[in-house]
Amino acid sequence: MLWDQHMHCCYSGDSEAAPEDMIAAAYKRGLSGITFTDHLDLDCAIEPELFSLDIVPRAEHLARLAIEWEGRLTVGCGIELGLQPHLAARHRALLSSHDFDLVIGSTHTVAGIDPYYPVFFEGKTEDEAYLGYFEATLENVKAFDDFDVCGHLDYVVRYGPHKNQFYSYEKYRDVLDATLRALIERGKGIELNTGGFKAGLGEPHPCQEVLRRYRQLGGEIITLGSDAHAPEYVAYAFERAAGILKEAGFSYYTVFRNRKAEFVPVG
Ligand SMILES: [Zn+2]
Ligand SMILES: [Zn+2]
Repeated sequence: MLWDQHMHCCYSGDSEAAPEDMIAAAYKRGLSGITFTDHLDLDCAIEPELFSLDIVPRAEHLARLAIEWEGRLTVGCGIELGLQPHLAARHRALLSSHDFDLVIGSTHTVAGIDPYYPVFFEGKTEDEAYLGYFEATLENVKAFDDFDVCGHLDYVVRYGPHKNQFYSYEKYRDVLDATLRALIERGKGIELNTGGFKAGLGEPHPCQEVLRRYRQLGGEIITLGSDAHAPEYVAYAFERAAGILKEAGFSYYTVFRNRKAEFVPVG
């Protein structure tokens, strides 16, 4: 039973995929369920309107599709929030007035700038840039706790000049441990995001060592997601997921419905 719990469709500013096509791809790949987690990123410095979200029309559209596919594939409605410390109150208000199956809390920006843009790395070493990203993630996790899982914990290494060539858990141990401990204390999960394979890292987000460390420190909640923005990437590299989870010490993974965790044995 495999669920892809991180994917985007045309309700996200960076995807043109029809949700119908994402669903059809998931069904073809034999998944049991999927959860759409379209972006909402408020206060982005470079393209401020790009990641706004039409929450209600989207929810209605996905609800219609969920009914249409009932019995064949479960279709969930989640959201990926781009966290920044000053947004905590706005995010809390939003989540108190809309229902979701899963809320991913992701750090996409440091001081409003996404590492996707080369300007993020200007004037700093790669090491400083990565450390700045991890510190921002820790700050976000401490500022806001109304999310279920922390998205792609080492997202920044996708975009660095040397990607993950000089990156390791050991190098950023202090800040990564502090973040994992903060997540565990707050009852929050992480995700095994296979988007890292698509980005050519040869590792998921976060990397294998960080997944293992989360489990070692007592973390139990881990979702599985491809971060697909197009149908061909639904369930990307999922054939590697069971091995990665077992290697990290998990005998199950987590599925969220109505923001409640269910634990599914790793096949
Ligand atoms: Zn993201
Ligand atoms: Zn995403």
